[in-house]
Amino acid sequence: SKAKLFDEKSDTRTSFKDVAGLEGAKEEVQEIVEFLKNPDKYTSLGGKIPKGALLVGPPGTGKTLLAKAVAGEAKVPFFSLSGSDFVEMFVGVGASRVRDLFKQAKDKAPSIIFIDEIDAIGRARGKNNFTGSNDERENTLNQLLTEMDGFGTNTNVIVLAATNRADVLDKALMRAGRFDRQIYVDLPDLKERKAIFEVHLRPIKTSETLDLDFLARQTPGFSGADIANVCNEAALIAARKERKSVTRQDFLDAVDRIVGGLEKKNKIIT
Ligand code: ATP
Repeated sequence: SKAKLFDEKSDTRTSFKDVAGLEGAKEEVQEIVEFLKNPDKYTSLGGKIPKGALLVGPPGTGKTLLAKAVAGEAKVPFFSLSGSDFVEMFVGVGASRVRDLFKQAKDKAPSIIFIDEIDAIGRARGKNNFTGSNDERENTLNQLLTEMDGFGTNTNVIVLAATNRADVLDKALMRAGRFDRQIYVDLPDLKERKAIFEVHLRPIKTSETLDLDFLARQTPGFSGADIANVCNEAALIAARKERKSVTRQDFLDAVDRIVGGLEKKNKIIT
């Protein structure tokens, strides 16, 4: 249904405070926040507000979170859909879904459209994909390009899209006036993992002051999503053991469990 697809929320609850690390990416999207908050200031001198930016990086690194935070900071509505929805749910109606989405976003402008997993619809045209009809996907992609080209300079809708496969995307998407900015969202380094732990420990009742540096050192290669999982898992482990608060050992057990899960996932891939 429409409501599910467009998932429109003025999600003022998500802000840059919820996004740990990613200083470079936050700085880049800050500019987009400024455009959305005050579009007239920028267009009055004849400037054109960018139409789109591509958030590029591995899974679970906070691309969706960052896009929501842009909407939250600018206090504008957030319209989102996932490329994989088109492959799995909207067979035959992809192009009209895209048209509807842009219409809704324009009606509520200034606003943000977020397209997760854009590679599912944005793969280079003319290459085979294994999911459904290629014509269908191409029609959807073409509609997306048409919508972005159709924006006037004062439409005040900014389209953010996320992918972990920028290399497979149709080059037409990256042309000027479309997703002509790329923002990199990488796996967190030690310092960033510490900051992510800090965010996700906020709601957790711990039995001691946890050494964040220690936790960050136990989790090399973890994404923000993995760290969020560790914190949640630790709380569940402690609850299962009837504890009143979460201990350092619960966190270590949670890390082991997540590492186990990651290893299994990698085994299936290789
Ligand atoms: P995917 O490519 O799999 O869609 P993504 O990059 O969009 O992933 P998110 O969905 O934004 O990742 O991240 C999932 C969850 O992980 C977030 O809701 C948040 O709880 C946590 N998370 C990820 N990165 C960060 C971060 N930098 N700071 C705080 N939390 C984070």
